[in-house]
Amino acid sequence: MILLLKKNLSDEQKSFIFGEIKKLGYEPSVQSVDQTEAIFFTEDKEVPFDFANMDGVAKVIISRQEYPLTSSKIKSEKTKIQVGPYQFGPSQILMIAGPCSIESEEQALAIARAVKKAGAHILRGGAFKPRTSPYSFQGLGQEGLRILNRVKKDVQMPVITELMDAREAQETCEVADILQIGTRNMQNFSLLKEVGKINKPVLLKRGLSATVKEWLLSAEYILNQGNPNVILCERGIRSFDSETRNLLDLSAVPLVKQLSHLPVIVDPSHALGRRDLIEPMSLAAIAAGADGLMIEVHDEPHKALSDGAQALSYSSFEAVISKVKKIAGTFDLSYP
Ligand code: PEP
Ligand code: MN
Repeated sequence: MILLLKKNLSDEQKSFIFGEIKKLGYEPSVQSVDQTEAIFFTEDKEVPFDFANMDGVAKVIISRQEYPLTSSKIKSEKTKIQVGPYQFGPSQILMIAGPCSIESEEQALAIARAVKKAGAHILRGGAFKPRTSPYSFQGLGQEGLRILNRVKKDVQMPVITELMDAREAQETCEVADILQIGTRNMQNFSLLKEVGKINKPVLLKRGLSATVKEWLLSAEYILNQGNPNVILCERGIRSFDSETRNLLDLSAVPLVKQLSHLPVIVDPSHALGRRDLIEPMSLAAIAAGADGLMIEVHDEPHKALSDGAQALSYSSFEAVISKVKKIAGTFDLSYP
């Protein structure tokens, strides 16, 4: 059940409504929906109180949606998410690029300069790395964040990095312009609730065996805590075929754009796991309606400490960007 409040309510009126909701044992959560404040508070279709006739309530919406805040039904417009000078959303195609992991300052700086020169908008780089084996390179951790911060200031690019543990949220937020929630944490509900309370865009990757509905329900966890700025990222799901690392589900792009108002981007690097397929699938992703791409780029891909097989060289990345720009142009989308 969602209550749409009348405009310009006083604090007393709002806290009275909150009080009534809490008396029924529900936890209200306030969101801004189409320039109106909405209180979302329960999955139940019926509650023993006539909220429709309550002072200050404009409308009661009984939603059959399992993810009402994420659903396209609640909002007439697509969500636009500002990151530095760029906007994730319906009119711009944005490119996130950089190494899988931050390995050293010198190298991160060189890669950042190269991807920026090629036309990338946002720099990626993992400091805390989720690795399948505890014996694999785990990332530089806090030192990786410090490097990312110095590089960000030097090259003047917004940055995205993964948050794996809520205990690292504060230091990560000091550096990151976007917090990445990785595939393995898509259903880490306590982490989702934490980033829901932070005023910073979140890139939510699809879980490696998550259905589209589960993915949207995870986004709902973040929105429900008050953070409306969620960018969804399709990064491939597990399949039976080991020719590619994962199966890039491009049908999820137009599907999710139908079901939700949130922007959707594609990460072909982790989906394919091999660099020779990154270009065609990047172009296909844009043609399918993705609002952007996230691509791993390395100065010496064969020497990368993580995910070298899927990393693009500078020249291959430049080739991808020039073709992405052409595809964006055919759809009248701006490539800023
Ligand atoms: C990453 O982007 O660095 C990463 C680990 O991706 P994923 O969570 O999709 O595996
Ligand atoms: Mn990687």
